[in-house]
Amino acid sequence: MRSVRFDRLTVEITNGDIVEQNDCDAIVNAANAQLRTGGGVAGAIHSAGDPELEELTKPLAPIEPGEAVITEAPNMPFKYVIHCLGPVYGKDTPSDELLTNCYSNALKLADEHQVESIAFPSISTGAFGYPMKEAATVAFETIKKSAPNLRSVSYVRFVLWSPADYNLHWDVLKEM
Ligand code: ADP
Repeated sequence: MRSVRFDRLTVEITNGDIVEQNDCDAIVNAANAQLRTGGGVAGAIHSAGDPELEELTKPLAPIEPGEAVITEAPNMPFKYVIHCLGPVYGKDTPSDELLTNCYSNALKLADEHQVESIAFPSISTGAFGYPMKEAATVAFETIKKSAPNLRSVSYVRFVLWSPADYNLHWDVLKEM
């Protein structure tokens, strides 16, 4: 794990599984519009929260690219799951703005719910095809820009699925 500080916010990156970040208050789901289970992150989180999580998300769907909604985290050690719909790269445009909205809306929602620590996956970089390096730049720039506005959130963990993705994220983060 490696970390940097943006104001009073600590941003850490780690290689692992989003549903195993047991010491975080909230985790973020790279959701689909219907807020249902699926592949990747949504599959992992919905398997952990099955079947109660889908009962909580169903009434909130559908959501738009860039939007975030919050639910409790049944059967999981977190207080909340924040569900974000990332843009499908090059189809939902402008993709960079929509991805920015995901991170800023998720952080805002977390802060409004007194979340102190939150774990993010790399939204849109799986099935939605966003190039990893560009997505990492958008994510960290948005987190940095949001930092001065956060009152409760003091710790952000970025969880990367592969060692290669972890290394790439560190290359981007250390430049900031
Ligand atoms: P999207 O549809 O937003 O692209 P995906 O879930 O397909 O979302 O993938 C987002 C990123 O999360 C990808 O980089 C993928 O490798 C990674 N990933 C997949 N499963 C997990 C997991 N359990 N924990 C953390 N990251 C994951």
